[in-house]
Amino acid sequence: MRRRRDAKIIATLGPSSSTKEVIGDLFDAGIDVFRLNFSHGTHEDHARIHGFIREIEQQRERPIGILADLQGPKLRVGEFANERETLESGQQFVFDSDPAPGNAHRVNLPHPEIYNALEVGSQLLVNDGKIRLRVLEFDETSATTEVIVGGTISNNKGVNVPDVVLPISPLTEKDRIDLPFALDLGVDWVAISFVQRSEDMTELRALVDQRAAIMAKLEKPAAIKDLVGIVQLSDAVMVARGDLGVEMPQEKVPVIQRQIVRAARREGKPVVIATQMLESMIGAPVPTRAESSDVATAIYDGSDAVMLSAETAAGLYPIEAATAMNRIIIEVERDAYYRKSIDSSLPDPGDTVADAISSSLHHISNVLPLAATFTYTESGFSSFRAARERPEAPVIGCTPYQTTARRLALVWGVHAVLSKEMTTVDEMVENAIRISLREGFGELGQIIAITAGMPFGRTGTTNMLRLTRLKEL
Ligand code: PGA
Ligand code: MN
Repeated sequence: MRRRRDAKIIATLGPSSSTKEVIGDLFDAGIDVFRLNFSHGTHEDHARIHGFIREIEQQRERPIGILADLQGPKLRVGEFANERETLESGQQFVFDSDPAPGNAHRVNLPHPEIYNALEVGSQLLVNDGKIRLRVLEFDETSATTEVIVGGTISNNKGVNVPDVVLPISPLTEKDRIDLPFALDLGVDWVAISFVQRSEDMTELRALVDQRAAIMAKLEKPAAIKDLVGIVQLSDAVMVARGDLGVEMPQEKVPVIQRQIVRAARREGKPVVIATQMLESMIGAPVPTRAESSDVATAIYDGSDAVMLSAETAAGLYPIEAATAMNRIIIEVERDAYYRKSIDSSLPDPGDTVADAISSSLHHISNVLPLAATFTYTESGFSSFRAARERPEAPVIGCTPYQTTARRLALVWGVHAVLSKEMTTVDEMVENAIRISLREGFGELGQIIAITAGMPFGRTGTTNMLRLTRLKEL
């Protein structure tokens, strides 16, 4: 089984998609990576769903990526005596460390770090930015604010503090329990929310210790200031447009989205566009024209993957949403202008041997039409670098490691295949021919390019390029 497109699709799983049947149908409709959202659900739920995905993977005989998304420091107010209160513009309202139920004048904000990081004039946004408040004064345990835009505030609503860099780790106590749990399950990617600085990724990487690849969710203004550093220290990034659009004026989101896509493509790191992509499909079987256009734009820009959130997790039409996304991507990739726009946005090659080889594939494919770019890879690195060049011929990522194959499910254009370790060049060439034919990537007589590293079995050594014709063996 091979997909007829290069960009990938991630689906978030939840109540609407927690049976093996629906997950199987989602895979068949085009989902490449499944997201377990640790902001919701119990460990038992995640373990059961993880098991279902691995069963589908075995049945379908294709590596499937699983992304564990850690909640991160999402700030929330405590509870109210009357569940909710209405704040009027111009009134004062206090956030404090007192766990007593809130009222119309105050509520608990149980995050002590935040009070020290505030400044007079800092903004607090409640309930996805619907309520806006400005800090008038603060001390070690409370902040008095003026309501700028009022509205209804209720139990446990989220709070965003866009102008403040909080002196906190992006890994909360909950994340530190969820992370080892997810790693023990065997997830392939770990995403961390509300990353503020590149050091956050260093901290996560140390904890993950190579058991999964790591993804930074970009949803804070501070992260955009440290964008290149964060991209460099991550294995992939997500444009988390939900919180990003709360923390920044929403009109900046499309501009920042492209800025992130460019930075990620330059560094050869997969980039995921997330949130509200087909939002209306939570309740409708077809997307709006604007939503189709948004997905298409992400693909024209050269993103690696687009993500479905509530559409597949909690909506009425999870399969229809996956199908719609699959169709939009295929349609864009058929457009001749898509190729042009991908080529014209290609970053300059890096100055490594692997990059010299990867970028020459472009030139070769202009001279000879290639049926496939066959990359032998241990860590996945060579396939990431090949994908960075966005070659016209699909990239086959051939690896002896299941974890590598699963991680590659997220990467633009890569079809991952498991195969034993190669020992000789002849074996390597024959194996590539056999797999390319078997997986439907070419016909007898067509040419494939093979990249590999010698000596075999060492990671990060891509130093060989071989062209060969597909033939009967
Ligand atoms: P979330 O992240 O769904 O975990 O909030 C995505 C976003 O903020 O866009
Ligand atoms: Mn978010």
